[in-house]
Amino acid sequence: MTPCDCCGQVVAKRLWVIEIDGTEQGFCSQECESLFRTYVLPKRAAAAATNPS
Ligand SMILES: [Zn+2]
Repeated sequence: MTPCDCCGQVVAKRLWVIEIDGTEQGFCSQECESLFRTYVLPKRAAAAATNPS
């Protein structure tokens, strides 16, 4: 079973899979996808900008 990339909850039924920047991300719901886009991606971009490796 695969955990949701946003909330970390294990997804027992169908994983909501989308591709972001060439990487497949799986979520438990569309809500988690939008949360991920809103909160995680900007943080990740900021971290990549300060720490390129
Ligand atoms: Zn989730």
